[in-house]
Amino acid sequence: MECPKCYGEMDTVLEGETLVDRCQNCHGLYFDQLTQELLQGLLASQSIDSGSDELGSSYDEMVYVECPKCDKIMDQRKIEEPVQIRFELCPSCNATFLDAGELRQYVSADYLEHFRALLPER
Ligand SMILES: [Zn+2]
Ligand SMILES: [Zn+2]
Repeated sequence: MECPKCYGEMDTVLEGETLVDRCQNCHGLYFDQLTQELLQGLLASQSIDSGSDELGSSYDEMVYVECPKCDKIMDQRKIEEPVQIRFELCPSCNATFLDAGELRQYVSADYLEHFRALLPER
């Protein structure tokens, strides 16, 4: 699969209820679907997010990201307060893209409940 952000080559790094691909170039993570329900099962899999925060933040500004499945521009889901969260979610298939470092950050104690609230229920 081609990375929706940088068009690098992606490898499958997790095959569970959610299929996760990681980009060899920007180390971003693509989830074939991510919901509040599925997030729970991913909490133990933070190690798939192996890219550096610095690398991820250089791609965070990118706004127009096409869903590889639907060829539609993904929605930006974000909050500024009390913590900053920003990621891409496809409104038709719930595919989600997180930049390198964001999964580790968003499942940490200060972020988790806010991140969960931005995801579709199921
Ligand atoms: Zn990439
Ligand atoms: Zn989609």
